[in-house]
Amino acid sequence: MSPKICSDSLYTVFVNEAFEFSIKFYKDNFPEFLEQKGILRLLKSAKDIEKCKLCEGNLPKKFKYLNQDEISFVKKNESRFGGYFFEDGAIIDSAGLIKKMLENIKVVEGLHVEHLDFIDNTYVIENIKAKGVILCAGNSKDFEQLEFCMLKNIYGHRLDIKTHMKLPFHLHKSCSISADKNGMIHIGATHIPNHKYSDSKSYEEYVGQMITLAKSYVGFDSFEVEKIHFGARNSTLDFFPVAGKAINAKETLKKYPYIKNGSLVPKEKYIYHPNMYILSGVGARGFVLAPKIAEILTQNICNNIVISKKIDTQRLFIKFAKKQFI
Ligand SMILES: Cc1cc2nc3c(=O)[nH]c(=O)nc-3n(C[C@H](O)[C@H](O)[C@H](O)COP(=O)(O)OP(=O)(O)OC[C@H]3O[C@@H](n4cnc5c(N)ncnc54)[C@H](O)[C@@H]3O)c2cc1C
Repeated sequence: MSPKICSDSLYTVFVNEAFEFSIKFYKDNFPEFLEQKGILRLLKSAKDIEKCKLCEGNLPKKFKYLNQDEISFVKKNESRFGGYFFEDGAIIDSAGLIKKMLENIKVVEGLHVEHLDFIDNTYVIENIKAKGVILCAGNSKDFEQLEFCMLKNIYGHRLDIKTHMKLPFHLHKSCSISADKNGMIHIGATHIPNHKYSDSKSYEEYVGQMITLAKSYVGFDSFEVEKIHFGARNSTLDFFPVAGKAINAKETLKKYPYIKNGSLVPKEKYIYHPNMYILSGVGARGFVLAPKIAEILTQNICNNIVISKKIDTQRLFIKFAKKQFI
């Protein structure tokens, strides 16, 4: 769990707000799964130092800039421009956390949903009946209701590595390296361009590249790769996550075809799948963004609090509609 630095974009502001919200959420509710040793974000150039200084107002409140002398455990060539240290930066034990969160919640495991039938105001999924549905199915192609979100995958690697190397806090530059715990560190990166991904290919070469990169930051010569994780993180085209009502894109475009050429129709007039919501597009920052957008969606469903345009489903629908224009 790491904030975003060196940018004044609205996305950065949102990510850093979500970072503070989510860290507090985990600290208050699941502290045993948070490995909060702080994270050092190394800067890449002298230009970065200037740029980041100007954007410090967007950073989470607790941060400090450390110069090269203060981060002597990072190799000289990589620590030249110093870095920002965030004491709240953390690693989360994702499997442990999720197991704990689901305690006392009825979970049906291993059910592949093929139909979401809506009968007598009720969704019927096999033998489950539900008044409402929240689709958190990542970038699943199984649900036509998700098509208008045009989600894409971003592929990522994480390695669990056994080593005697000691690292006092988590570190990020072009890849992330965790602080050591019980003789283990984790290295992760988003480094396989989507156009190079294919189901049939092996990604060994990329694992090698990631280890070489990590070794250029901190020295660890003897090590053993214990486990390789690889997965797709689903993302929207504008990188903001998406939470809100599931628009019935087909019916809405049938009723208001001129949305395709850019005409504005108030979202209140759209046709929606009844009592169906979407929460997705958390990209590579699921553990940072999900608690915040879950809160936003909860406030919307329970208290009718309007969801900001940046997060709501409408913006993705408008982009989708324009793509249908021929
Ligand atoms: C390698 C890697 C590194 C990561 N690193 C970080 C990190 O540094 N920081 C961070 O915050 N997060 C990280 N994440 C987590 C990531 O950001 C997202 O949180 C994660 O991808 C979860 O997103 P999601 O739940 O929206 O979607 P998914 O993980 O795609 O989950 C969708 C679920 O829907 C289910 N589903 C789909 N279709 C159907 C169907 N028809 N019927 C039933 N079930 C269905 C799938 O089985 C799946 O369980 C990482 C993830 C990976 C893979």
